[in-house]
Amino acid sequence: MHRRKFIGGSAAVLATASAPHKASISKPAITFYSDFWLNLHHTLYRQADALQTTYNGGVSSLHPIQRHFYEDATHLPLANQRAWYRALEFYQSRYGGRSFVFDDQLNRIENALADSAPPNDLKRILASVAPIYLNTLWPAHDRLNRRRIEQWRQSLAQYGPTLMPMLSRLYQTPWLRIPYRVDVVASTDHDGAFSIYGPRYWHIVTSSLDRQDYGLNGFEIIVHEASHSIVSPESGPIVHSIALAAGSLNRPEPADLWHVVIMYAPGSVLRELVAKAHGAPYTPAFVANDVLTEVYPRYYAALKQHFQLYVDGLATLEPAMEQTVKAIVG
Ligand SMILES: [Zn+2]
Repeated sequence: MHRRKFIGGSAAVLATASAPHKASISKPAITFYSDFWLNLHHTLYRQADALQTTYNGGVSSLHPIQRHFYEDATHLPLANQRAWYRALEFYQSRYGGRSFVFDDQLNRIENALADSAPPNDLKRILASVAPIYLNTLWPAHDRLNRRRIEQWRQSLAQYGPTLMPMLSRLYQTPWLRIPYRVDVVASTDHDGAFSIYGPRYWHIVTSSLDRQDYGLNGFEIIVHEASHSIVSPESGPIVHSIALAAGSLNRPEPADLWHVVIMYAPGSVLRELVAKAHGAPYTPAFVANDVLTEVYPRYYAALKQHFQLYVDGLATLEPAMEQTVKAIVG
């Protein structure tokens, strides 16, 4: 499931505020990473979280590759087992139950690890188990991360040059001039990918183990996360058009519609591009993961019927959004 980044939204708006004075950025600069320390951090978080949730059911919720490690842990030398469980205890007590998206401390750590500068206490814990991770889970994680990165790079090369300028036009907002850093980690948390505003880059973290993040759907999720950098709940043409529509209908704005728009638009454009390129059907990520169909069925129906005219160039944003909002609240 993909909620995401509301905190970074306001920062992103600041970053784009001066954009009208500059040439429009129609394509974001996206780079992919399989970073050892971020992967170790997320592995410890995920395992600590699974153990904390329930001693019995928790482990079974892990991906088989990670579950396998638990079985193997008993075969590790005793000193290594102790170090690993000390690290899990540290993660349980320090970060247990916290969100990568909404917790400022975890946000800062995410960016600090990408810059190889974690806080000292965390650095000590990570260093104490780094050789264990290096010799057990990391090779499989890194291999899988690189396989996904290769797929997503191909998707970016094939569809990016059309998709990204098209989305920028639909959002009526240029992409950020700063780089988009995509960190691929074995597993993030229960909710899949997320994005946060980094010090010098828009930071997207996504998973190579989560089944819903595979292949072209996984690429679409990355594009959704990138969309968070330029579509915010506070300002900008999309949220403005929603407010305008709700105002003219004298009804409250449909909650989270701005977010559902950036779930809908990338998949809708991608489906068109896949049909053109291969004559093949494509099921958008947020349909495949049931979010549009199960969580937002009313919004999804309205977007397909009315907002799609705007996507197809048959209507302008404001009337298309007014019809969309009317269908939702009417
Ligand atoms: Zn999102």
